[in-house]
Amino acid sequence: MQVLSGVKRCPTDVYFGDMKCCTYQPRLHNFLVGRILADANSSGKPARDIVEDMIVRRSGVSPMGVYGPSTYWLLYDAVPNSFGRSSTLRCPLFDLAAGSCRVWPYREATCATWFCKYNRGKKGMTFWESLRDLLGALERALARTLVLELDPGTESLEVLFSRSGEPFEVEELVGGASDSSHARRWGKWGGREREFFQECAHRAEAVGLEEVLLMGGVEARALALLVRERFQMLQEQGQTDVPLTLGRFEIIRSMDDHAQLSTYSNYDPIEVPRALLAGLVRFDGRPANTVIEEIERCDGVMISAELLRTLCDFGVLVESRF
Ligand code: SF4
Repeated sequence: MQVLSGVKRCPTDVYFGDMKCCTYQPRLHNFLVGRILADANSSGKPARDIVEDMIVRRSGVSPMGVYGPSTYWLLYDAVPNSFGRSSTLRCPLFDLAAGSCRVWPYREATCATWFCKYNRGKKGMTFWESLRDLLGALERALARTLVLELDPGTESLEVLFSRSGEPFEVEELVGGASDSSHARRWGKWGGREREFFQECAHRAEAVGLEEVLLMGGVEARALALLVRERFQMLQEQGQTDVPLTLGRFEIIRSMDDHAQLSTYSNYDPIEVPRALLAGLVRFDGRPANTVIEEIERCDGVMISAELLRTLCDFGVLVESRF
């Protein structure tokens, strides 16, 4: 009897160049920009200089924060395979020489929750994605509330809170916003952008979790429920009496004894013994323990509880709905 207790995690074939996964323009909300500007440490100077430069160039800058130029997002959305590869899309705050983030303590929701591999595979990814969505919603709510509090004026609010967003300007194709667009965005705070961002950071310091959840409204409450539920799912160790069937996966490499599978993500392939692969087709919606006994009897392979949990975590086996 061959006893199988786990799968092997493999390095990804997807090439992340020198800039790792930082081919992304972070959404530096106003209070985060304020924190970066107020960081008096000498190690924070390069980041301060970069953000200052973006403010001076009006490159994707508004009272909501520094979100990067519109042209960046056009390219980002248009070329999906560029992730981790294109230096054109490299984050301006990534330190290429050190291979690290210059604003680590102030990074936003996506940067704080993205990983190329998750301990619990797809289950882990689902949890972290729900946390990203919650943190993102809270960050946006806080940034918007701070804009309201600091009242840049009606015309500015009209632009910043418009459902369709500001029209794309020809000036932004070659640099920053035009004088008129910049003046509309900033209203009373025009020319005092740094002061505005630092005041946002100062006010954000005093905001507690309950308060920011209130700012986030119904959306934040719903997302917080999802985070709680998905965290709960991470605590579950898996049951052997649930009906399981085969999930979606691709065999990306086949060797004599093993096969490499791409399951929930191309970044996190796993290697499984061929003997297991042959037995997996027996999962047809019957309770897992029935099928495991059948595999032991017919294929001479024993699947441990730990292996079963990993196969479920990676979506190789999924709960049958029928
Ligand atoms: S802010 Fe930091 S973590 Fe986020 S993309 Fe830039 S360098 Fe990477």
